[in-house]
Amino acid sequence: MRAWIAAVLLLVLAGCGDEATETKSSQYVFGTLVEITVRGVPKDRADAAFVELAEGFRRMHVDWHAWKPGGELMRVNAACKTGETVEVSDFTLPLIRQAKTFHALSDGLFNAAVGEIVGAWGFHADEPPKGRTPPFDEIRALAAQHPSMDDVRIDGHRVTCSNPAVGLDFGGFAKGAAVDWALATLKARGIADAVVSAGGNVGTMGSHGDRPWRIGIRDPKAWGVIASVEAAGGESVYTSGNYERFREADGVRYSHIIDPRTGWPVEHILSTTVIAKSGALADAASTALTVAGVADWPRIAKRMGIDQVLMLDDAGHLYASPKMAARLAFPEGKRPEVIVRPVE
Ligand code: AMP
Ligand code: MG
Repeated sequence: MRAWIAAVLLLVLAGCGDEATETKSSQYVFGTLVEITVRGVPKDRADAAFVELAEGFRRMHVDWHAWKPGGELMRVNAACKTGETVEVSDFTLPLIRQAKTFHALSDGLFNAAVGEIVGAWGFHADEPPKGRTPPFDEIRALAAQHPSMDDVRIDGHRVTCSNPAVGLDFGGFAKGAAVDWALATLKARGIADAVVSAGGNVGTMGSHGDRPWRIGIRDPKAWGVIASVEAAGGESVYTSGNYERFREADGVRYSHIIDPRTGWPVEHILSTTVIAKSGALADAASTALTVAGVADWPRIAKRMGIDQVLMLDDAGHLYASPKMAARLAFPEGKRPEVIVRPVE
């Protein structure tokens, strides 16, 4: 996830094309551009929905923020330092539960308890530090304490951490949770056809008129897309990119995705795209499979119930599960070799 910077900086409500059938909104939230397109309802109904979405996103931005004080997650993290028990609201508790589920499903590779380590690497800032050598000793000491979602106990609405090295950071799946919520909110307002994109992570509902939604998968190495897919209603397409946020020091590039087993940033994977029915799951899985890497992604995908994966490594190899490979459409004149691996 990119930095969750200032709440809603920009809220543009712009009609587009035939006003009665398609309305768009661009909102700057979570440090990224969220673009919402709805079809088949009049503009005033779409605009009213966009206002509700902006309010929800603003609350998520505050309450789920991993390093800016004032929100609920920061209150939980403060209590984790001392082992104190805190009451958590129905707004944030489901995220803690989901984080525990994804941790178990991914064999610990998706571990939202690594926030202290992410912060020590310098990624709890709108702009990661440049040039300075990371505090390796501090990072090693934190990693040696093995912060894990298993250290977070939920009892009703009460949450207790049993490891002071735990820092909750929802950056790996909060965009997915936010987009899922946005689509559910639009549905509750009687909107059947919509697409919500948060920084290139896309959730869909219904269709684009008489054709499916077409989603581009960004090329991490060049401007443009590696491939595109037609998303059936209800599918989410999420990409986790090692290239998205990183810091450089002494000629080494450190990415923001941390291998919880070592505390060190993941190397060699440029991007991992996952298609699934739930945005939160697709988001968590794209991060987890990036940690798993080329050798282990089929095993972790299977554990997480994911059968559509596309991965690009820094040697330029493109790997895909059979189901993903079958639906990729490539840009005109491009036909890259795809190494197909079963999910197992
Ligand atoms: P994404 O772009 O969805 O892959 O999310 C990356 C973000 O997830 C990072 O900026 C961290 O906030 C957080 N993160 C890093 N490593 C992990 C991990 N192994 N498990 C869960 N979250 C992580
Ligand atoms: Mg993710």
